[in-house]
Amino acid sequence: MNMEKFHGFACMVCGGTLVYDDKAKEQICDYCGQKTKSTIYCPEGHFVCDVCHSGDAIELLNRMADSNDRINPIDIVEDAYLHHAFKFHGPEHHSLVPAAILISLKNIAAQRPNGDIVTAEMVREGIRRGTKIPGGFCGTAGNCGACVGAGVAIAVFLGSTPTRGPERKASILTTIAALERVTDGLIRCCKRSTFHGIAAAMQVLREKFKIDLGPEPRASSCKNSHLNKDCAKEECVFYPGLQDAN
Ligand SMILES: [Zn+2]
Ligand SMILES: [Zn+2]
Repeated sequence: MNMEKFHGFACMVCGGTLVYDDKAKEQICDYCGQKTKSTIYCPEGHFVCDVCHSGDAIELLNRMADSNDRINPIDIVEDAYLHHAFKFHGPEHHSLVPAAILISLKNIAAQRPNGDIVTAEMVREGIRRGTKIPGGFCGTAGNCGACVGAGVAIAVFLGSTPTRGPERKASILTTIAALERVTDGLIRCCKRSTFHGIAAAMQVLREKFKIDLGPEPRASSCKNSHLNKDCAKEECVFYPGLQDAN
């Protein structure tokens, strides 16, 4: 695997290691010229905005809404990872979780509570909502974009709005369940958070809505740890070297 294609933890301009600061500063995207404030930047002065960082990956997910025919959300996640547009870390994972759950629901023609089925248009709505969550959110907002992505998936499935109490509650509880899984004290890993977000949404669908999307992400099942220079290894439940976790 070409590490250059997986430099989600590196500057997209020079390949240098990115700084994750606790203060935002105004920066100009080297690709599109957009002025924006961000806590993430390259010490060499380069900056790439969230849209340019994840734009091709979002386009990929939007195409997958129509064409991917997998059932298990983890298979859909692994398909997306094969594409060079997907960086190792990055806000595209915030759209990946709702995309994978909703594509899976679409492919099994799961019935929504109102009797409709999930459409490709609804998948793209989940992807769009995921793009509203900025990069680095897990470290700067007391939240995690992949976990919110799980809540987005359930919100789209249920047709939740701010004025629909039960649907809103179920969506928020899904995000909470995902957040409980990611509060492991480790530094961010978008792959690990994606697994946790997917697992939380799958569990809610199975237990509350009797919809089975297949086996949830298993312990020790990460296929990407060798690409992560920050991998927590034995401390991460998904690290493949840890065979007897859970
Ligand atoms: Zn740079
Ligand atoms: Zn840009």
